Amino acid sequence: MKRTYNVFVDNGLFVLAYYLEKDIEDITEEDIENNIEVMCKKIVKFTKCEKYSNLKSMVFPNSPLTQKSGDLGEKVKGFLNFKGNDICVRCGEKKANIFNDINKTYVPNIVSLTMYNYANNLQGVNICPHCLALTVFSILNCRVAQDVILYNSTDDEFMYSYTEEIQDENNRDMYINARKEKSNGISKREALENIWKFKEHKVYSGFLEQISFNNIGVGMPTYEALTIDNKNIDILNKINVNGLEKEFFNPKYSLFRQMLNGTIQYRYLEKIIKWDNENSQIECSKELLEFLNMEVSRLKKSTIELLDRIADGIVELNKAQESYKKLKNLQEGISAFEDFLIDILSSYKELNGETLFNSNELIMLTNRMEYKRIKNLLIVKLIERF
Ligand SMILES: [Zn+2]
Repeated sequence: MKRTYNVFVDNGLFVLAYYLEKDIEDITEEDIENNIEVMCKKIVKFTKCEKYSNLKSMVFPNSPLTQKSGDLGEKVKGFLNFKGNDICVRCGEKKANIFNDINKTYVPNIVSLTMYNYANNLQGVNICPHCLALTVFSILNCRVAQDVILYNSTDDEFMYSYTEEIQDENNRDMYINARKEKSNGISKREALENIWKFKEHKVYSGFLEQISFNNIGVGMPTYEALTIDNKNIDILNKINVNGLEKEFFNPKYSLFRQMLNGTIQYRYLEKIIKWDNENSQIECSKELLEFLNMEVSRLKKSTIELLDRIADGIVELNKAQESYKKLKNLQEGISAFEDFLIDILSSYKELNGETLFNSNELIMLTNRMEYKRIKNLLIVKLIERF
């Protein structure tokens, strides 16, 4: 089967692949059909374990899992009779048929993908029986952290090894009939941070998505996606390779949070520096600071080297403290920063008879899109030299 990149269908596919000991590409429609009964038995047993019993109503409310009568396997097998010629909302193939029994109960978060269901007051949804069965299997990869958490990554290797670890844990917990953990108080961000740390010894590529949802209740189910995109995955991999993950994930700096918010390149400096008018201090290691400057700030290497040269020049002028204060209290806008640089340039010329930087470099430093980051990095370069 091909991946759909729908979080439910993909997780179901990897769970089935795990139990059949196959690669996902080798899973056939017959594999899905022939294993509905055995997988549903597993699901019933899994959700009887106290630790995971909440999942029944949070993932598939009003299904045989939550009702006294009915058999989940029979119910899902029954859906096989409803193949049709409609396009499936999950895999896009023409093998779905709208059937009123296939609704939110078995297809969480359908409302964002189709106009059926809530908008038109129709109950059914056009999903094919195979995507439906895989969606049901996905409960075996679910975890609870306030809401239900599921992960999806474009990296197949991540999905294989994540699924394996989750299934191992499920089987251990079922064996000892694990109790509910006292606190489900972990936040969604912490959960995403954990999944990353959990994998810290392996390097993965691609996009990682964390879905948190709750399908319970009559209204719109809750559904939230947090993602780490390719660029950030690449940065995280480099952080691991450089052995900086412990410091990077230190909650004191909230760098990971800034990364998820998409603001890390603008805000990392203020997070790792203890600002003080007289004597600011860099709180993290030199290695992490250098790493962030090179990889996160997205300033060119030549710009960073130029800033080192200017900071050295300011030290030669014996103006480190004075310049630091000036820069910190500089008015908004490029022109004030430009005036500052020109001032340094002329003082340096007076003292040494040499030019500290040329006019092209001045233009580069006062780029409208980047000058704030450049100014902040120059402040840091000065603090480094105090
Ligand atoms: Zn489908």
